[in-house]
Amino acid sequence: MSPIERRRSVSVDIGGVQVGSGHPIVVQSMTNTDTADAAATAEQVALLHGAGSELVRITVNNDAAAAAVPEIVQRLKDVGIDVPIVGDFHYNGHLLLPGHPGMARALAKYRINPGNVGAKRRDEHFQTIVRVAVEHDRPVRIGVNWGSLDQQLLTEMMDENARRPEPADARTVMIEAMIESALRSAALAEETGLGHDRIVISAKVSGVQDLVEVYSRLAERCDYPLHLGLTEAGMGTKGVVATTAGLAILLQQGIGDTIRVSLTPRPGGDRAEEVRVAQQILQSLGIRSFVPQVTSCPGCGRTTSTFFQKMAEDIQAYTRERMPEWRSRYPGVEELNLAVMGCVVNGPGESKHADIGISLPGTFEEPKAPVYVDGELYTTLKGDGLVEEFKSILEAYVERRWGRPSEAAVEVAAP
Ligand code: SF4
Repeated sequence: MSPIERRRSVSVDIGGVQVGSGHPIVVQSMTNTDTADAAATAEQVALLHGAGSELVRITVNNDAAAAAVPEIVQRLKDVGIDVPIVGDFHYNGHLLLPGHPGMARALAKYRINPGNVGAKRRDEHFQTIVRVAVEHDRPVRIGVNWGSLDQQLLTEMMDENARRPEPADARTVMIEAMIESALRSAALAEETGLGHDRIVISAKVSGVQDLVEVYSRLAERCDYPLHLGLTEAGMGTKGVVATTAGLAILLQQGIGDTIRVSLTPRPGGDRAEEVRVAQQILQSLGIRSFVPQVTSCPGCGRTTSTFFQKMAEDIQAYTRERMPEWRSRYPGVEELNLAVMGCVVNGPGESKHADIGISLPGTFEEPKAPVYVDGELYTTLKGDGLVEEFKSILEAYVERRWGRPSEAAVEVAAP
């Protein structure tokens, strides 16, 4: 159980997935295919869902994309995938949603950006979208983004600030404008007939300190569920670290009911990486478990061999490969902790803390590898078959600990 006390928020049902403080923090993701290409989009939704995304957002940017949405959902149903699909609307949602009722029905939630629903007729367009949501009983996410913040509201607030005897700095006003935009839009949605429990809010920025500040303030001023994400996080290590830094601070404070990691994939890269990173953030914080964790040391001059690095990688890949079957046969197996360590200095200690750990021999150590199970020395392995023997011990342990009673008769064989 997570020791973190969540900020209290109402529950919002998104196509059967509950989002709010009474439920686990939900991982979501977004496709980058052309939505009008129903086959490619359905395929990527399936990939993201297969990686663990519990909600998947697709952009709905024109009539062709809107027309493809029912087919995307049908294609997924045809292969047994029932993940809620969220439609992302900018500029023309007030035209697309009323004009494509099949699309409006097929989507589980609508994301509205109040900064780009129209300048002079902003409220009217916003209300048009909300009325479709009410008609189809769909929740909405009011997703403010500093890159497309309501300029009229920002200007009004800047002017008002300038008239004060002691004006706040521009950053403070910008953050306040984001919060105001989100909360005023939520109030307008409720006035238009949307239920209080049909609204999720996000207020994304691309800087970590700004993210922490905007969400910390927003969290105090409403009880809507909050969707967290560092927008435009970037590529590779920068994107992963910046997102983790921002989200971890907020999640540790109990803020956040659903998260997305907005990584820029390399050309041809794996879109599902953003799902794995989101899961790892939650798992590293002890909030949710998704896959067994492998603890391994970084290696140092005490082990010149790369054997333990290869073994750590091999065991990590093996647990991921086995998870689809393990998950269905062994509920709870995602809590499994393994250790693959490089030498005697920290090897036995770390291995004893894991469910199963192996301490490989460092330079000048005897070529043998003690294996610990539940904190006790279980056996000592050596020779070429060591990795395969370790996997056999691992399989037997999983069976014994998480197998159903009728299947649990198989004990870890004595060495
Ligand atoms: S466990 Fe051994 S090999 Fe690994 S980092 Fe520590 S001292 Fe180095």
